[in-house]
Amino acid sequence: MFDPANVSILIPADKISERVAALGEQITADYKADERVPHLICVLKGGCMFLSDLMRSVHLPVTIDFIAVSSYGTETASSGEVRMTKDLDQSLEGRDVLFVEDIVDTGLTLSYLTDTFRRRGARSVKIAALLSKPARRKVEVPIDYVGFEIPDEFVVGYGLDHAERFRNLPFIGVVTDPAAV
Ligand code: 5GP
Repeated sequence: MFDPANVSILIPADKISERVAALGEQITADYKADERVPHLICVLKGGCMFLSDLMRSVHLPVTIDFIAVSSYGTETASSGEVRMTKDLDQSLEGRDVLFVEDIVDTGLTLSYLTDTFRRRGARSVKIAALLSKPARRKVEVPIDYVGFEIPDEFVVGYGLDHAERFRNLPFIGVVTDPAAV
């Protein structure tokens, strides 16, 4: 396994799989109870691994789509700016949107996306985030399904990058020496 020396493990791979499976069960039960089927919208690129694991744990005929936004560049502090760099392929009219996001940090990205998607005619909009950093929140966004709350650290792995690297790590880790990256 690729296990770089300058990344320390915060959440090991087996804990992630357990939690993602539990989230999938919860989502299945909730949407079944409401007689709805979620339209999973993965926020690229960070949400890719979470989507691929989560969708296999949701036992409903889900549909998926992808959106890309940019708010970070290669920096490790939020610019507060949200720009859509790839829009959806399908219409949202009457859909039950479930965002699949890697991490909610300031909340600016999801607050912007949930407002935009409601205006586009989605019937319901919910959020599943693998990670949440509550200490950094600038805008309150209700996260319906959260994997783990983490401290205010810049994390990588399981889809999350630092300057486009580390996305393929199967665990969530903290870069111990950003200068060495
Ligand atoms: P927000 O708009 O909530 O501040 O930021 C959301 C986006 O910022 C995430 O989707 C992610 O791309 C990026 N981000 C926030 N915190 C981290 C972090 O600790 N590590 C990485 N790699 N990206 C982060």
